[in-house]
Amino acid sequence: MFRAIVGIIARRRNEPAQSDRMQTVTAGVDIAYPNSVVRAGGAPVLLPETADRQAVIAMIGRVDGLLLPGGGDVVSLAYGEEPHPTAKYQDPVLDEMEFLAARVAIDRGIPILGICRGIQSLNVALGGTLIQDIESQVPGAVQHWARPRDATRGHTIDVEPGSLLARVLGTKTLAVNSYHHQAVKDVAEGLRASARSRDGVIEGLEAADGRPILAVQCHPEEMRESQPALRNLFEWLVREAAARRSMGTDPVSGPCPGAENREETPA
Ligand code: MN
Repeated sequence: MFRAIVGIIARRRNEPAQSDRMQTVTAGVDIAYPNSVVRAGGAPVLLPETADRQAVIAMIGRVDGLLLPGGGDVVSLAYGEEPHPTAKYQDPVLDEMEFLAARVAIDRGIPILGICRGIQSLNVALGGTLIQDIESQVPGAVQHWARPRDATRGHTIDVEPGSLLARVLGTKTLAVNSYHHQAVKDVAEGLRASARSRDGVIEGLEAADGRPILAVQCHPEEMRESQPALRNLFEWLVREAAARRSMGTDPVSGPCPGAENREETPA
């Protein structure tokens, strides 16, 4: 059966060393992301973090959709700022991979869903900037760093009427979870804000020109049961990925004969 392939960037993780084991370094994502893709009818593949740009380009050439998942902070120098004292979990190799993956995907018309860190790295990839620390830099901010992130309806978002996000979610206000201390500041050219929390913090981005790009600051993969409207985001990504694949064309490399049989083709 036809299943669209959704690539998910898998970051480097240093596993805690155990007394009788070697230190291990893995590449991975929270399994809620691939599970959400599967439940939406897609087939997830993990794209492990690498500094090899040609390898990244080749990976994106083999997927129908791209998911930029949650994670740590984007290195502030990538958008021209010195680091705020609260900066944490920085990984410039991951940043560069995500910037390149996002740009290649956009060039090729591959749909993108960005989540949490993903909305931030997408924005920086296209020339935007970030608020480095909401609590100390946004007066009157609501609570954006709540635990647990799974079932909590943390704060309200207002969705821009007429936006792609409004159509996908089917609502103009929604209670979402919130687990971030950074946020989009200056929106990159080519993108537009499509949702905000009541303190004005940007909670959604999408393409300004109708390309298949959506990004949210909340964690829809953790709210499948508590906020079912958020499942629509994964269903949108898989539907767009499948639609692009069924066209069988690639704006960069031209028509791809046999693309519909790619699932069965050995790598
Ligand atoms: Mn938030």
